[in-house]
Amino acid sequence: MTAETLSLSMAEPDIAVLTFDTPNKSANVLSNSVLDELAVHLDALEKRTDLAGLIFRSAKSGIFIAGADLREFVQSLGAPEDQVVAMCRRGQLLFGRLSKAPFVTVAAINGICVGGGAELASWCDRRLFSNNPKAEFGFPEVKLGLFPGWGGTARAPRIAGLSNAVEMVTGGESISAEAAYKMGWASDVVADDQLLSAAIRLVRAEQATKEYLKDRERWSGPIEITETELGFLGATASAVIRQQTKGQYPAPDAALETMLESAMLDSDAACELEATRMAKLFGSPVNAALLNVFFLTDRNKKDTGVDGEQIATQSINSVTVVGAGIMGSGIAAANVKRGIAVVLTDAAHEALTKGGRNVLEEASFDRTLKGPSAERMLELAPLLNLTTSPDEVAASDLVIEAVVENEKVKHSIYAQIEPKLGPDAILASNTSTIPITKLAAGLKHPDRFCGIHFFNPVRRMKLVEVIRGEKTSDQTIATAVAYAKGIGKIPIVMNDGPGFLVNRLLFPYMHEAIELLADGAEIKAIERASKAFGMPMGPIELYDLVGIDTAVYAGQTMFEAFPDRVVSSPLLPAMVAAKRLGKKTGRGFYAYDNKKGRPEPDPSLAEVLGPHVREQRNFTPDELTMRLFLPMFLEATRVLEDGIVRDSRDIDLGLIFGLGFPPFKGGLMFWADTLGAATIVEMLKPFESLGNRMAPTKLLLEMAASGAKFY
Ligand code: NAD
Repeated sequence: MTAETLSLSMAEPDIAVLTFDTPNKSANVLSNSVLDELAVHLDALEKRTDLAGLIFRSAKSGIFIAGADLREFVQSLGAPEDQVVAMCRRGQLLFGRLSKAPFVTVAAINGICVGGGAELASWCDRRLFSNNPKAEFGFPEVKLGLFPGWGGTARAPRIAGLSNAVEMVTGGESISAEAAYKMGWASDVVADDQLLSAAIRLVRAEQATKEYLKDRERWSGPIEITETELGFLGATASAVIRQQTKGQYPAPDAALETMLESAMLDSDAACELEATRMAKLFGSPVNAALLNVFFLTDRNKKDTGVDGEQIATQSINSVTVVGAGIMGSGIAAANVKRGIAVVLTDAAHEALTKGGRNVLEEASFDRTLKGPSAERMLELAPLLNLTTSPDEVAASDLVIEAVVENEKVKHSIYAQIEPKLGPDAILASNTSTIPITKLAAGLKHPDRFCGIHFFNPVRRMKLVEVIRGEKTSDQTIATAVAYAKGIGKIPIVMNDGPGFLVNRLLFPYMHEAIELLADGAEIKAIERASKAFGMPMGPIELYDLVGIDTAVYAGQTMFEAFPDRVVSSPLLPAMVAAKRLGKKTGRGFYAYDNKKGRPEPDPSLAEVLGPHVREQRNFTPDELTMRLFLPMFLEATRVLEDGIVRDSRDIDLGLIFGLGFPPFKGGLMFWADTLGAATIVEMLKPFESLGNRMAPTKLLLEMAASGAKFY
């Protein structure tokens, strides 16, 4: 027998309370069995003639209901359409009873209330929010390639207005309790500990005024809107969606269409339309891929970074960041923002003042202001201590070194710092290319040293690579992982190796773009193939952004590490010699002469590029895609063969959050699984003449023979 989630109690003799408390879980989720429980309770409650109200509440602090049970979703991914329609209808009809019950229904929302939870609340007569800072309300289904299917698209426009509903459902972003109140979702926002008493008062007030009956009537009919308004709203919303999805995510468009079409229908017909449209998205490749991304992040949240027994991690309350450049200031800001005291040091005064300013501006960045908030800056300023003396490190639990990429400089800093560190303090490097084991040489405590590799720009990039040197202890790794999560990052643990994970996989892809240029492919065609695959930017533009000098340096590292498959191209050094270093010098593969710094085709590139083009030929878009992404995939199989990561899922998570690999593909290995190893081996055959870099690896061949998958 499964333990029960819903419990019934009486707040007053005529006011019933159903409390959600999913056993052994931190969040309440709406699984099939919870829906069954709800149905049983409603059967009994609806029969009573003595009830004035029913209040829904949660026993979990800061969480009302986190949505439907996605694990059950995954099990039904292959379900036929009529079954999906039935799943939707079941939820709609069950929750719909709350809008027809012989008593007032109130959702007393004490925290996160999203997805199916927001739908359940939407079907109640009234919603009341607590001022718990965690309280949020929204329909994130589009982030999973779906839209609300339990009546959300019918209720939202009727309660909050079509325009608000379109924004919430197609954008998938949650709103705060305060915003929910302003939008008309909530009757009030009250103190957390007053929520139940306020809900009881609300029931009494509604029974006195019978206002809820008028709303029941209004919300069951069509929306009051003219055809002209509908047309205008549709056109503007569809333009915003196109800009955001680039046509690669079908759910927001489908949600918009459904809501526009159902605006003139009554609520029951709107629900039927919602169910049939939702069934078309459910189980689609994009839905499956996005669910995978959800489970990847969910798995990461639970991963301690160390296999086997749970390790007690050290708490990190103060951090020193050495080096106040681009990365150092970004890392310091990420800490300050989360309330961690930071000592920021740099050898150069000027770099330190500039870096310090950047830290506070970035840490106090306010999205609504689109800039730093002065108030927040004053609040955070005491957490930041700037100094040119590395002596201050003594009090820090963690020191992150982010100085120039030079082994000697890094070694000399460690020699200076290590003796001053506390007995448990951890030392970490943000290096992108130097092996961690090499950097650890000469340290007295290599067990307390590791790589903590952030990505640029730190504010936006969620991934952090936690790199284990040969002597790094489990305790150090587990602490680094817990720390990275604490500042809102997604850490992946890996063994040491050239390029670690993300740069190692980025390199073959970038490198192939150069080889394609030499084989006569046009820049425009290469960029188009990459973006059509879903990358946020083409590889050629990425060269310009990273800096071609940096790319040459990275290329040398890879060439030395993997001479069997890395061909060194003379084109990039020629670009450096021609002082075309990319965006930073105003010229690279593109020109950046316009005010906005946008890349524009540059005819003068032909002088440098010309001598390196071996032939002139046309490529099909498919051929370009395979040339770009198969080398990346092959390298990923080598990463697995070399035991760099502990699970192929880490590769997918790393590429999505460190490189912007398209989430709608579910990850590189997830994508490869949709093709199958045997098919990939076949796809590689036409590229045999390109040598080792396009040759199937041992792992791939084994998988092709056995039919195995990465997932
Ligand atoms: P940067 O040039 O912007 O900053 C380096 C800072 O280190 C400068 O302010 C410099 O004054 C300071 N510095 C140099 N020698 C020092 C010393 N002896 N003591 C104290 N400070 C010293 O460089 P960055 O881009 O921030 O890179 C820093 C590190 O991060 C490098 O190891 C780099 O490989 C790595 N990294 C860079 C990126 C990136 O995209 N820029 C991404 C990930 C990792």
